[in-house]
Amino acid sequence: MASITRTVTYGKQAISFDVKFRPRTTLDIAVQPDRSVLVTAPEKADLDIVDRRVKEKARWILKQQQFFNQFEPRTPPRQYVSGETHLYLGRQYRLKVHSAEHRSVKLIGRYIHIHTPTPQDTDAVRQLLDTWYLNHAKKKQQERLDTCFQHFAPLGYTQPTLMIRSLQKRWGSLTPTGNLLINRELIRAPRRCIDYVIIHELCHLKHPDHSNQFYEFLSSMLPDWETRKLKLEQL
Ligand SMILES: [Zn+2]
Repeated sequence: MASITRTVTYGKQAISFDVKFRPRTTLDIAVQPDRSVLVTAPEKADLDIVDRRVKEKARWILKQQQFFNQFEPRTPPRQYVSGETHLYLGRQYRLKVHSAEHRSVKLIGRYIHIHTPTPQDTDAVRQLLDTWYLNHAKKKQQERLDTCFQHFAPLGYTQPTLMIRSLQKRWGSLTPTGNLLINRELIRAPRRCIDYVIIHELCHLKHPDHSNQFYEFLSSMLPDWETRKLKLEQL
């Protein structure tokens, strides 16, 4: 089921959130331990009303985010200021934060340009960049899954549904219900490492465990998986 990402402002703060539409009559707002905001809305909900409800709960959302903030290990802390480098698909890009009337994030050359009315507000910059990463993760990872799955489709398997998630200890995970969870940070890794994670998880369609048969199957699908894994661990 698709979700969309939106942003509202509360004072000087930008609040980004994902909206999922479900067959239900009420709207629910939740702040998750990774500080992301998830809105579950009725299928035909008006987006203006969704935005308004998020704004009404903005104080509570920011409080919840602050609460989860204290558990966040920050090594090294990202500053979200001009000059700082961030990884995207394995390449370093330099951040350039500009003052502008409208918010936008654009990757041009070796730079990620962030336009915001509040360039000093690093939380707002972080939120904009997080949303940008998440949107690109959804698009790119779906592309990679579609490509990688081409090797599995002839074997009769059903393509799992991609879900980008904040996973604490794993890059990916295949659920028994046919969902492929991919760590939202994986979009920072090179494409060959992304493909390794996806193919590893797809091999679990045949072998749910990490038995010898699993690794034999993985090696047949991706002979150089070990060098890709090593590269990923060195990120
Ligand atoms: Zn595994």
